[in-house]
Amino acid sequence: MGLVTLTGLVLSSSDVGEFDKRLVILTKEQGRVTAFAKGARRPNNPMVAACSPFCFGVFEAFEGRNSYHLSKADISNYFRELVLDYDKVCLGSYFLEVADYLSVEGNDERARLALLYQSLKALESGRFSHTLLRDIYELRTWVIDGEYPNVFSCTCCGKKEDLFAFSLKRHGMLCKTCSNLEPGVEISTSTLYAMQFIVSSPIEKLYTFVLNGETEEELTRILSSYRLNYRAHKYKSEEFL
Ligand SMILES: [Zn+2]
Repeated sequence: MGLVTLTGLVLSSSDVGEFDKRLVILTKEQGRVTAFAKGARRPNNPMVAACSPFCFGVFEAFEGRNSYHLSKADISNYFRELVLDYDKVCLGSYFLEVADYLSVEGNDERARLALLYQSLKALESGRFSHTLLRDIYELRTWVIDGEYPNVFSCTCCGKKEDLFAFSLKRHGMLCKTCSNLEPGVEISTSTLYAMQFIVSSPIEKLYTFVLNGETEEELTRILSSYRLNYRAHKYKSEEFL
């Protein structure tokens, strides 16, 4: 068993045995991993605080055959403000569950980890509506997984200009001409720009824009119907949103 250093965020934590904890951590180096923290439920154990969901930091661990055994944790962000607010915890838990469900052990999950971290920071800041946060997180998650609506050209003729309506059936935009032939929902240019920004901006810049209420509503309408049509998985934490 070799000692490794993992940088990551705790997605979930459960009790095992009398004093131990089992964690699922989304890491920069190894994708999603399972790690055991021996004695982490004993009072005064230095690992106690590090073994909760939302903890982000550097973990030292021994690598076993199917899991890791934590020896040390240096937490740099506990998301303390977030975990004290019920509504934020609900949405944050949903973000964690989505990341848990879609990430894979051994995969390069750096983009997902960065998205999760930035989304939790934005959620903690209180500067965004929860609806917009969810829209941004979900759309960018679809981008990471490579299956997302085409918002840069007409899905019918390929034209990049005059994008006019959104077609659920075609997974993306239609130009003015094609929207006369194909069913689609007309959307405003600001909603289109918002989607283009969410799809293509660097993850660190994702949470730097503002939308007016009308645009946010339209964006939510489009993305919710897209989710209902194409994402079958029901998340447990969704019930609390
Ligand atoms: Zn067209």
